[in-house]
Order: sequence, then C-alpha cells, then structure tokens
Amino acid sequence: MDYDYHLVVIGAGGAGLAAAVSAAQQGLRVLVLESEAEIGGSTQRSAGMLTAAATSVQRALGVEDSPARMFQHYMDLNQWRVLPGPTRMFCEQSSTLIDWLVELGVEIPAQLSRNAHMPGLTRAGVEDVWRGHVPKDQGYGLIQALDRARRRLKVDLALGSRATDLLRDGPAVRGVVVDDAEVTAPSVVVACGGLAQNPELVREYFPDARIAGDSLFVVAAPGSRGDHVALAERHGLSLFGRGWGLLLVTAEFQRFHHWQSGFPPPARIHVDSDGRRCMDEDAPYAVSPGILKQHGGFVWAVFDETARTGLPPGYADWAADRVLEEVGKGIVRRADTLPELAARIGVPPANLVRSIERFNALLGNGHDADFLRHESLAAKQVDPRLPPVETGPFYAVRMLPAELVCTHTGLRIDSLARVLDTGGRVVPGLYAAGEAAGGILGERYVGGGNSVAHALVLGRLAGQQAAQRVHEAGSAA
Ligand SMILES: Cc1cc2nc3c(=O)[nH]c(=O)nc-3n(C[C@H](O)[C@H](O)[C@H](O)COP(=O)(O)OP(=O)(O)OC[C@H]3O[C@@H](n4cnc5c(N)ncnc54)[C@H](O)[C@@H]3O)c2cc1C
Repeated sequence: MDYDYHLVVIGAGGAGLAAAVSAAQQGLRVLVLESEAEIGGSTQRSAGMLTAAATSVQRALGVEDSPARMFQHYMDLNQWRVLPGPTRMFCEQSSTLIDWLVELGVEIPAQLSRNAHMPGLTRAGVEDVWRGHVPKDQGYGLIQALDRARRRLKVDLALGSRATDLLRDGPAVRGVVVDDAEVTAPSVVVACGGLAQNPELVREYFPDARIAGDSLFVVAAPGSRGDHVALAERHGLSLFGRGWGLLLVTAEFQRFHHWQSGFPPPARIHVDSDGRRCMDEDAPYAVSPGILKQHGGFVWAVFDETARTGLPPGYADWAADRVLEEVGKGIVRRADTLPELAARIGVPPANLVRSIERFNALLGNGHDADFLRHESLAAKQVDPRLPPVETGPFYAVRMLPAELVCTHTGLRIDSLARVLDTGGRVVPGLYAAGEAAGGILGERYVGGGNSVAHALVLGRLAGQQAAQRVHEAGSAA
C-alpha cells in the first residue's frame, strides 16, 4: 500500500517534535500536525526542567545516580500505582536523552543551579539526588532546538491542522483525519498534550481541580483539549491515569504562574481550619497539594504588616498594594490582632496565637523542629532564620491547589510507547507520548521535571519505534 508519509505526528509540542526528529533521524518521511497557529504547546511555556538519571551533566558535577535509583524513588513516591515496565523504561532512557538534546543544540551547562530559571543541574525538592536538568532558555529553548532539527531533517509541519480521527486498517492504524482530509501513514504518534483546557474532561478525569472552585486557573497551552480521549472512546483504546495531574498551590487571588505572580512572603505560617500549623510552608510542589487535601483542601497563610510591605515590586499578584486590594474584596482577611484575625477566618484564637508563638520561636532560631522548613528554605538559599510574625495588622488568605499545570490521563502504553486497546492488545502502528500517554505520570509529580522529561523520552522512543516498524515492513512512502 502507498502511504503519504511513513509517520504522522499529532501535536507539535515537546513530545511530538521529539518523535518527529527521532523518526526523521532514522530516515522516515514525517508530517507533524499542529492544531494551533504556532508550535510549542505547554512545553514552550514551561521552565523546561527535565528529570533524568546518570547523565553526562550529573557525571561532570560528580553526582552519583542511576536509573535503578530513579526508578525506586519514582515508584515509591507514586506508591507503585504507575506501570512498572514503562516507568523503568522512562528512567533508563532518561540517561541518554540529555546527550541527544545537547547534540541537537540544547544547552544544559554542567553547573549547579538553585532554581528552575538558572540553566544547569538543580533539585526541586523531593528528589533524592540532584536530577533536575534546566536548559538554557527553558521550554522555549527546547522547542527552538527541536524545531531547528525538524527543519534540518526536512520534516513537514502543518499548522492550524487539528487531527480529529484515526484511520484504521483492521486492528492497525493507516493514518489520520485532519479536518475533512485524510493523511495516510503506517505509523501515528499521538502527542496532542493533556486535557487541562477542557473543563468537561477536567471534571471527569481530574476532579481534584474542583477543590479550588472559582479560583481555578489553567496555565497549560490552549491546545490541551484532550483530543486523545475522543480517540480512545472512538477506537476502544485504554486510558490510564484517571484522577491525576499537577495542581500548584497558590493564594486564592493568584491568577498567573509564579513567574508573573510572584511569591508569598517567606515569613508566613500555614494553619489548618483548626488554627494549627500543619505543614512546611515551602513543601515541594510535588507533595504540597496532597498535604492540603489531607487538611480539607486548603490552608490559611497568615502574615503580618512587615511581610506585606516587604514584598518585592514588579509582580502581578504578590505585591503590597495588590494584597490591600484583595482586603477590599474580602479575599484577604485583615485584623489588628491575631485573636481578631482568628475570628475572621473562623479558627480557634488560642490555637492560632499558640501556633504563631511556636513558629516565631522555631524559625527565629532557623531550626524548624516540627516541619523541617529550615531545610526547604536552605535549599532555596533563603536564610532559615525568619523574621517573626508579630506586627499588626495581620493578614490571612486561603492557599488552594488552584493552578492547573498538566493532566496525567493518557492512552495506556507499553514499555515501547505502543498504545494498548481496552483488551490489552497492542494497536499496530499507534504510539503515544507526553501528556497524551498514560502509565508513567502518576498521582505524585516527581521532580522537578517529570513531565517535560516524560514528553521527550516517550516522543524520542515513539519515533524510533515507528522507524523500526517501517524498516521491518520494508514499506516506502
Ligand atoms: C507554565 C508551565 C510550566 C511548566 N514547567 C514544567 C517544567 O519545568 N518541567 C516539567 O517537567 N513540566 C513542566 N510543565 C508541564 C510540561 O510542560 C508539560 O506537561 C509537557 O511539556 C507536555 O508536553 P506534550 O508534548 O505532551 O504537550 P504540549 O507541549 O502541550 O504539546 C501538545 C501539542 O499538541 C497540539 N494539539 C492538541 N490537539 C491536537 C490535535 N488534535 N491535532 C494537532 N495538534 C494538536 C497542541 O496545540 C500542542 O501544541 C509546565 C507546564 C506549564 C504550563
């Protein structure tokens, strides 16, 4: 049978471009379909941080690591509820991903980095070892390098082209439907991202996003409409990862990712609905939504006038004036004394006062015996000796899991990125990568850099597998 292409890739984000480039490196004729007017998807918006083990960057910095160690950490954090085979593959393939990207022109310097904005090797909180690789120019830098490779390898790109269905030939795929046209190919990679921008699918597949109510805001790219879910329904494909995704904890009035939003003042305490301190206020984003869930979905951040007036200028949400505006709207509560503030937020005053006295005593000395926050602060290079919360007026605002970053319900894959149907059978020629793939991304976001690494590792593997399939079949377009 004659095909238009050897491979059609649905989506020009990180996963899709990685698939296209790796397949083209093996000599395949590839078409990438992108529904939007520009490439990049959520990957382009991201910090581009990648989790990867036993890499050349780690070695150059003397960091000892192995895929086996990463696997153990990954599985433990996810309580072994993700698929072991694909996850082992992910950890193993992450090692060579970094060198592949560097060959394509991505710059990841062998230097320690203290945050997701400084290129190098970092640690975003939960990792057992320095494993977060931050590329120069972040997600934008990754996409640019992949797209340059795409052009060099003469991979076709069709912008404004939304794939709406798969073409089948018996159990196997034979192409895709794009608007009213058909494009044929013996292999298809579904890399259309997540479902965060589709409220109906979010309700069904990630109900935790409802906890934040009207405060929910989505930072994922507009193309994250979950088109893979319709493909699953229509073609009897299996989905995996229901109920999982990444929500970041933000103040009730925040509307932007922290790059624009800014950060709450370090001298703040998080208390539960009983007025008791209940967490490390700087707990890693991988685990903080889970901690909030444990406490009924939200906590109160309490801070004082010194902290408010000390907020640095230049940010959209966490700015001194903005906090006052939110007081006016009743979102931030204010009172002259702590017992009055406790009454405003409906917690027992004695508990709040006691919690703050203890917080001031512990963090004033830079050693948080209760929640070990001094360690999180030190990791961020913030002096763990915090100023006390003691100068009225005092403020309180709800902290909620309100920033929806990505979702984890995808087409169930095996350890070769092949899509499985609801009967557990491989669908010949069909691969999935990135957020559209299910099995590896779990309830707990691992890293720094779980999702971008997952997109690129799977994309690269899917491209290689498609090439192997084409070469084995000896088919030519
Ligand atoms: C602000 C922000 C910061 C983040 N920071 C990090 C980070 O530092 N590290 C990390 O690991 N993760 C991070 N993430 C998450 C991570 O970026 C994404 O989960 C990951 O990049 C997804 O890659 P993808 O290729 O699956 O999807 P995308 O990059 O979203 O690409 C999917 C593409 O498919 C297109 N598409 C959709 N449907 C169709 C269709 N039917 N036909 C054709 N095209 C279609 C979309 O328009 C899009 O371009 C961040 C996310 C955001 C939003």
